[in-house]
Amino acid sequence: MSSQIHDCSARVPPETLTAKICIVGSGCGGATAAWRLAEAGHDVVVLEEGGDFAGRQLTQRESAMYDRLYMDRGARTTEDMAIAILQGRVLGGGGVINACDVVPPPDGVFEHWRSKFGLSDFEPARMKPYVERALQDLSANAILEHQVNRANLALQRGAQALGYRGAPMMHNRVGCAGLGTCLIGCPIDAKRNPRFVAIPRALEYGARFLTRARAVKIENATSVTKRVIVQTLDPNGYHEAAGFEVRADYVILAANAIASCQLLLRSGIGNPLVGRHVSLQPQLPLTAFFEEPLDAFYGIPQSYAVTEFEDEANVEHGLWGFRIEGIMGTPGIVSGTGMHTGARAKEVMARYRNMAAALLLAPDDADGTVHVSRAGRPLIRYTHKENHKARLRQAIREAARIYLAAGAKSVEASALPSISIASESQLTEVDAIDFAPATAALLSAHQQGGVRFGTSPKLGASNPDGNVYETNHVYVFDSSGFPSSASSHTMTPIITVSHCLSERLLARIA
Ligand SMILES: Cc1cc2nc3c(=O)[nH]c(=O)nc-3n(C[C@H](O)[C@H](O)[C@H](O)COP(=O)(O)OP(=O)(O)OC[C@H]3O[C@@H](n4cnc5c(N)ncnc54)[C@H](O)[C@@H]3O)c2cc1C
Ligand code: SF4
Repeated sequence: MSSQIHDCSARVPPETLTAKICIVGSGCGGATAAWRLAEAGHDVVVLEEGGDFAGRQLTQRESAMYDRLYMDRGARTTEDMAIAILQGRVLGGGGVINACDVVPPPDGVFEHWRSKFGLSDFEPARMKPYVERALQDLSANAILEHQVNRANLALQRGAQALGYRGAPMMHNRVGCAGLGTCLIGCPIDAKRNPRFVAIPRALEYGARFLTRARAVKIENATSVTKRVIVQTLDPNGYHEAAGFEVRADYVILAANAIASCQLLLRSGIGNPLVGRHVSLQPQLPLTAFFEEPLDAFYGIPQSYAVTEFEDEANVEHGLWGFRIEGIMGTPGIVSGTGMHTGARAKEVMARYRNMAAALLLAPDDADGTVHVSRAGRPLIRYTHKENHKARLRQAIREAARIYLAAGAKSVEASALPSISIASESQLTEVDAIDFAPATAALLSAHQQGGVRFGTSPKLGASNPDGNVYETNHVYVFDSSGFPSSASSHTMTPIITVSHCLSERLLARIA
């Protein structure tokens, strides 16, 4: 299999490669498209700037894994440094380092795309077969009761005590041994992510995958043959090394919403809406401290979700409200997202065994922007809206209520002012959290938009087939096309949309 995965850091490809289709990015969007298009007999080349890491190379060591598996080694942020932007950078993309939650895009979201944006091609009935196909690719299965670890059980217990709706989640793990390090890769390859599903299938059908190959520019975007200018990277992915180009009739960007915008902007192609309407869906971590050890670092980190407060068919937004999901991080990420320093930070981390943590997820308005610096780096600008802050505050209060009902001694959101909530009477103190930049550990793992699908160039940056306006067959097949936040989680929606757009493209090309 590895014969067609070419590591460009070991051997620079010839100066010019040709292919019918060049795909940038090997994650959920890109690998799915590579599979479908190669299966139909097309000559496909996939460019991936990350390396190929699987099995025992995923060592569970934080010091090495963020460096190898995350974009900007996990240190990417918005321009004001208020929100950490987490993205995968590895063969297989974000699926390699994600939490494996399988959440199908709710019908309400596709209905919203139809009713608000006129995108009838995405109406729920038309998308249903693609959602089913995505669930099949992911081997989606329910997390079993016995796989819910003690920390997630605490969330479940508290929610049930309060009568709140919630359930164990679906996931794409098969043969999981509960080692707990999903966010830095699974050393026993238990995740049915693109690295183990779409990529092997695409390779079987002859697709070529080039790793440590960074696309830096697309030239001749309005011509029949496009030139994708590529820089190889050194084995650690730090420095650009040598150049080559791929000539292709079709170029598909699936580099993640931020990177797909970045490449279009660096190339100076597309209409003025490229880089606009970006959703970051900032999430907030929250920690509950229990008297007894929960050892939440054992078992599946994220397995139970409280969905009581989700509004799945919001007329204005399609999906709104918020959800509360159990989570656990490795010590580095837990200490890094805590808002404490010095002795207090030490004291908190000494209670690592006694923690249960949750992520508070709320969809947002898609009005962030991506620009590029002179050096071609993405500059991500985002104004955190009051409506989102208000829902996060409400989520803090509800999560605290739930954990207190489950027996927690105290609950702390990763935000300043630092409030240790030990009783219901303290819930009003949450109003003091104003989410000023750099006062909360906000994380974005679900970036969307930036090359919004629109029925005309006035309404979007790409047409409903993903064809970027003002180009000749340059496409986006990732979440950059999403006109509004698809759901709490993005892996399943992206695979769904990539299947859909791949089929539409196949119907048009010879
Ligand atoms: C920590 C974390 C946890 C998450 N948990 C979940 C979860 O539990 N469930 C869920 O549904 N979603 C989750 N997500 C989100 C989900 O994983 C992503 O939305 C999804 O993987 C994105 O797919 P994609 O194909 O658009 O991009 P990616 O998977 O990010 O793939 C894009 C690839 O393109 C490469 N690339 C970028 N620029 C270039 C370039 N110029 N040239 C060549 N290659 C390039 C990158 O290296 C990357 O590998 C999580 C995300 C993160 C970061
Ligand atoms: S919890 Fe399961 S899927 Fe996650 S790293 Fe451990 S064994 Fe792999």
